[in-house]
Amino acid sequence: MLMKALRYVEIGKPPVVVDIPIPKPGPGQVLLKITAGGVCHSDDYVMGLPEKDYHEQGYPLPLTLGHEGAGIVHEIGEGVDSTLKVGDAVAVYGPWGCGRCHNCSMGKENYCTNAAAEGIRPPGLGSQGSMAEYMIVDDARHLVPLGDLDPVQNVSLTDAGLTPYHAIKNSLPKLGAGTVAVVIGTGGLGHVGIQILKAISGATVIALDVNDEKLKLATEVGADHVLISDASAAEKIRELTGGLGANAVFDFVGANPTIALAQSVAALEADITIVGIGGGSMTLGFGSIAYDAAVRIPYWGSRAELIEVLDLARAGKIHVQTESYTLDDGPKAYEDLASNSIRGRAVIVP
Ligand code: NAD
Ligand code: ZN
Ligand code: ZN
Repeated sequence: MLMKALRYVEIGKPPVVVDIPIPKPGPGQVLLKITAGGVCHSDDYVMGLPEKDYHEQGYPLPLTLGHEGAGIVHEIGEGVDSTLKVGDAVAVYGPWGCGRCHNCSMGKENYCTNAAAEGIRPPGLGSQGSMAEYMIVDDARHLVPLGDLDPVQNVSLTDAGLTPYHAIKNSLPKLGAGTVAVVIGTGGLGHVGIQILKAISGATVIALDVNDEKLKLATEVGADHVLISDASAAEKIRELTGGLGANAVFDFVGANPTIALAQSVAALEADITIVGIGGGSMTLGFGSIAYDAAVRIPYWGSRAELIEVLDLARAGKIHVQTESYTLDDGPKAYEDLASNSIRGRAVIVP
């Protein structure tokens, strides 16, 4: 039996839709019938890697894309020790780990200390991903109940929700009433990040982007101020904060100009969190940043945090703005991502 899958098959070429056999779940594995798969800018980063780096970083070819996934449990492999039943609606927790190390035992599989050595890779980022009609999940532990949440509407919470949630939660002690948070980049992750800040912190949110449409969306989802991200932005943030700067900056771009902006507007004791993988870097030394500011580079989030993000959605406090594409239109979703014309998050619906 064959299924459609959106795969990256040739370095430097766009992904293509192909027919491949429906996989069989091996011992301990679960086969999902996919209901939705989200399109992340990181996929574009991976497909933009030069051949040498792509292989050195352990990505296989062909690679079925998709590290945001939701589905219905279709078949359960031998020996799966779980209450999971065929027909259950689930979301995939993507940062797969070993399940045994200290971090994994705390649910922080995003920081598994064995994954690299054991070749454990997230779906769509090394293992075969969610942009197909069916997908293998390596362990029932990596499935979280979706319940009555609509999969298309909520699949992106597994990354575009979880990643900003994890980043923001770490800085919550600095984001009480009267504080200011800056969000740079109001695309897939950023527009959810703004909502999470409004839902769980007391901060006033200043959002920045280079694109007017994205700033409109930022306002719609609750940003208190929006600014074009250019050379004048730092000065405007200083004005908006009475000269003090921001208590936390979340950079969902991570390029040199945005990192420099984050560094220059960080207040005393602020947190700067660089989430975007835009290739930028920061030079630090005495006098180059406000006293006691801290810089953090997080990766994805924990399993518990995914459950919390889904709960926020269930409570109606966050909502992903989505644009749907069929699997056949999958390559178009990546074209639209590259031309920066997606409002919110693109979701592939097989
Ligand atoms: P996206 O394309 O949906 O959004 C990026 C946004 O940044 C767009 O709205 C774009 O207009 C804006 N932008 C571009 N240049 C800008 C600038 N100079 N100033 C302000 N805004 C600018 O991307 P996404 O899927 O939300 O991903 C955002 C970044 O986060 C990507 O680099 C992605 O690879 C990375 N990411 C990291 C993690 C992690 O765990 N660290 C997880 C997921 C995604
Ligand atoms: Zn991602
Ligand atoms: Zn582990």
